Amino acid sequence: MDYVGNIIRPPSEAYSLIIQVTVGCSHNMCTFCGTYKSRKFYIKDTDLIKRDIDEASKFGGSFRKAFLTDGDVLILPTETLLHLINYIRKKIPSIKRVGVYGNTKSILKKSKNELMELKDAGLGIVYHGIESGNKEVLRRIRKGAFPHKMIESANKITETGILLSQTVLLGIGGRELSINHAVDTGKVLSEMSPHFASALTLIVLPNTDLYKDYKSGKFILPDKFELLNELKIIIENMDVKRECFFASNHASNYVAVKAKLPREKDKTVALLEKIISSGDKNILRPEFMRGL
Ligand code: SF4
Repeated sequence: MDYVGNIIRPPSEAYSLIIQVTVGCSHNMCTFCGTYKSRKFYIKDTDLIKRDIDEASKFGGSFRKAFLTDGDVLILPTETLLHLINYIRKKIPSIKRVGVYGNTKSILKKSKNELMELKDAGLGIVYHGIESGNKEVLRRIRKGAFPHKMIESANKITETGILLSQTVLLGIGGRELSINHAVDTGKVLSEMSPHFASALTLIVLPNTDLYKDYKSGKFILPDKFELLNELKIIIENMDVKRECFFASNHASNYVAVKAKLPREKDKTVALLEKIISSGDKNILRPEFMRGL
């Protein structure tokens, strides 16, 4: 398989066939993200991608899902993406669902009809990282999109029947914007009503712009319990229209919660309150076990 650089995929795609379609991220500007820093974004040659699919088809009979990387696969022309999804499903008929990462701009560039066509071909889930619902936080981290556009893009996905999975990032507002970040993130998630939402916790990486601010003291990372308080506030402020499976089980988090919202909201908030008020660091994931 022709894999260029580190391959990143959501935890829920751990058992999926991974096909690399783009290299890097079309945005590549977020101050906290070092994932694709050293790579220039490009779309891989279709024949090269098809060669990978051919190779995978020789042992791919057991795969039920495929995930297309890297950062922003929805930026592909719809025709190309349709061709690739159809090719995957023809060559590996056991694959019932194809997933991709998509950013706000790429989703908005697609028409409803294009998204419907993609869904009918087998695009079953879009992973959309919003990080925060707070406008000032999004401006500072150079996310390249603001809440109203993020909500518009999320609704565009769910209206077609494609599953939507949102990712938010605890700590990204720093201590200064911690509460605003959490409240607004909960509110924006409410307006999106994703099928899945997950929280990761910021780890400031040395190869990022944020690291310079962190080192100089301009950016102060909330402490462990302040981060858990953000998680609690996000869930408290989530008022979703459809059932949302919320998880903080990513390895970057100090506490893993899994909750079906809104049903398990009160129970989950109470659990987090109990952990926060205990102040007991021994029940948190130790630093050496955290990762991205
Ligand atoms: S966080 Fe996502 S959109 Fe931002 S630079 Fe990293 S991969 Fe690209």
